[in-house]
Amino acid sequence: MTESGVIRLLMELRGQGVTDMRVQNVFEAIPRDRFVPEDLVDQAWDNVALPIGCGQTISQPIVVALMTQKLALSERMRVLEIGTGSGYQAAILSRLVRRVYTVERHADLLVTAQKRFDALKLHNITTLKADGSRGWPQQAPFDRIIVTAAAARMPEHLLDQLTPDGIMVVPVGEGTWDQKLYCVQRHEDGYDSEAFLDVRFVPLLEGREGRPVER
Ligand code: SAH
Repeated sequence: MTESGVIRLLMELRGQGVTDMRVQNVFEAIPRDRFVPEDLVDQAWDNVALPIGCGQTISQPIVVALMTQKLALSERMRVLEIGTGSGYQAAILSRLVRRVYTVERHADLLVTAQKRFDALKLHNITTLKADGSRGWPQQAPFDRIIVTAAAARMPEHLLDQLTPDGIMVVPVGEGTWDQKLYCVQRHEDGYDSEAFLDVRFVPLLEGREGRPVER
């Protein structure tokens, strides 16, 4: 990793509202260059989304940072992520909470992400190949849920897998151009939700299986 690249990215994140020091520190601690394809390593510290294969992308750092900050995490929490992709967001979360559960429908992406977790000794991440639109009922409830693919509508059944005062961050929108990031907070008698950012995520594909691993 290039020192100047990290510093430039951190300044950009701060300038765009990432004020939480724990989030800033974890961006320094997790090497994003280990989560992108080899031929794109020179762009790993740029504030851009990059292709990771299977038609998917590693999210833009500012979006990862703002979603992470919005989750208001603490050390004892158990967090569910839908859409492992490269594994970068899960790795960021793993340094801030007790355990991360992450679900991905593409087996080959999941295998690569798992290798990265092992190499970086991130041992508090549990992975599952499944349709994450159904959450992970066997491990529920979760203190926090983060969805990193865009749902066409607010995924109500994922809300059921939150603890009573849990928070979910999720991009919602039908097309590529009209998605918003929502922060949903569960209360005793219902939910509050707030849209806080315009975003562009790949779609959350419901009820479909990914391709089998080819090795
Ligand atoms: N969090 C990732 C970025 C994810 S891109 C990172 O840090 O790199 C979105 C991911 O969601 C893709 O890998 C896609 O395959 C996955 N995805 C889409 N629909 C899904 C579903 N129903 N269940 C699980 N994963 C899904």
